[in-house]
Amino acid sequence: MRIVDIKEMTFPISSRIRNSVIDFSEMTISLVALVSDQRIDGVPVIGFGFNSNGRYGQAGILRERFFPRIQNAKPSELVEHGNSNFSPAAISAKILSNEKPGGHGDRSVAAGVIDMAVWDLVAKLERKPLWSVLRERYRPNTTVEQRVWVYAAGGYYYGESDTSQVRDELLRYVDLGYRQVKMKIGGVSLHEDLVRIEAVLSALPSGCRLAVDANGRYQPKDAVQCAKALNAYELAWFEEPVDPLDYAALAEVASAYDGPIATGENLFARQEVQNLVRYGGLRPDRDVLQMDPVLSYGAGEYMEMMQLLDAGSWPASALIPHGGHHFNLHIAAAFGLGGCEAYPAIFAPFGGFAPEVVVDGGYVTLPTDPGLGLEASPGLAPKLEALRSL
Ligand code: MG
Repeated sequence: MRIVDIKEMTFPISSRIRNSVIDFSEMTISLVALVSDQRIDGVPVIGFGFNSNGRYGQAGILRERFFPRIQNAKPSELVEHGNSNFSPAAISAKILSNEKPGGHGDRSVAAGVIDMAVWDLVAKLERKPLWSVLRERYRPNTTVEQRVWVYAAGGYYYGESDTSQVRDELLRYVDLGYRQVKMKIGGVSLHEDLVRIEAVLSALPSGCRLAVDANGRYQPKDAVQCAKALNAYELAWFEEPVDPLDYAALAEVASAYDGPIATGENLFARQEVQNLVRYGGLRPDRDVLQMDPVLSYGAGEYMEMMQLLDAGSWPASALIPHGGHHFNLHIAAAFGLGGCEAYPAIFAPFGGFAPEVVVDGGYVTLPTDPGLGLEASPGLAPKLEALRSL
């Protein structure tokens, strides 16, 4: 059992949207194919992976360091004991050999892309959807709900006449079956953001909730001021009020804000999560942790995070990964997480789920195709084919 070829293509996301910190017009993504020597029905089995939006393509690290480490490994170093399948843990360890601790950044994203592709390959070889493979391996004898709670992320800044546009956008998500929606804040004055928030809240049907996301934009004192203003609303959560690594500032915000705080999408390793829960003032009874497996070395590292959180009395329901794509949906389903982000209208085709997945009452059904099921997505299929035939 061998990996016979590894390929990468960088694609633009090309979304003409912005949050309070960055615009996405130049954002890119890496799509990777791991081609195995295995065949099903005469067709070579290939694992595909790509990174979540927001962190750019990773061609440099992939091509200069990680691909050669896989290509130079002995085939026996990359497979499970008994040669029954490829080993995600062994491949992860191989690509991270000769890497110093700390400084996770882009390296963790590149590793996550490969890990997604490895898991796609592993599940395809088992001819099962990935959530089923993960559940059998790590949560045997547990009953997993056949649906995952999701919320619709969007609500970016449009510019002129933003208030009615953002309201209409979020109401479209409700029409699609979502019951929680999320909008950006922090890109205009607090007063203007409060007008936008009130416009959405007054239009949302009962039973629907609104979360707000500042993308780490605020200075600590501004974040506290914003938190005090947001106490007037019953928001689903206040996301990334301050810089993701400024745990003391986050603790100040938490002491000023009664509702849930969400953060973690820009933490890329278990050590960063450990520091978040040690020093960030967060509350396991209400707050939400959004670490994204693809951005943080992959499913193995995510399981390490889950373990340390479990030891600190954080329930699995507090984990709702960032990312809005197939891989994180499978992981949320397998581990019984609180849910998963979804992008109904942005970042397509990399954002979004398989066409067979149905959104209803704020939940999605689980995909049934082997692996991640990327090939069934009409937007993704041509890109996978372009990479395959490279
Ligand atoms: Mg966010």
